[in-house]
Amino acid sequence: MGCVFCRIVAGELPAARVLETEHALAFRDLHPQAPTHLLVIPKEHVDAVADLGDDQAELAGRLLLACRDAARAVGLDSYRVVTNTGADAGQSVFHLHLHVLGGRPLGWPPG
Ligand code: AMP
Repeated sequence: MGCVFCRIVAGELPAARVLETEHALAFRDLHPQAPTHLLVIPKEHVDAVADLGDDQAELAGRLLLACRDAARAVGLDSYRVVTNTGADAGQSVFHLHLHVLGGRPLGWPPG
């Protein structure tokens, strides 16, 4: 299995997990861009938002709720949820993930 996030889901690679549900996993980003930087991923492999099927609406919604719960679990009450889709947008790991960033003021628009 080549996908690094699938390997984290499988327990083959370590990760600082903060939340796990039946369908989603949240863990700390290896290279945090804010004092708190979590990644929330579906356990099922999907490359990116652009690859979500119409039949995956429930999975998409569950991911957003997992962001809410992961943020709560680490005590964040103000944070940004963002997902990069495609290389030009900055996606480097092609397993859908939502970044949850907080713990400092965040500028807008992002770069
Ligand atoms: P993106 O560039 O939007 O695809 O985000 C991928 C994120 O995954 C980056 O912020 C990386 O720092 C992070 N990352 C890559 N490998 C790992 C890993 N093994 N554990 C935790 N975070 C990782």
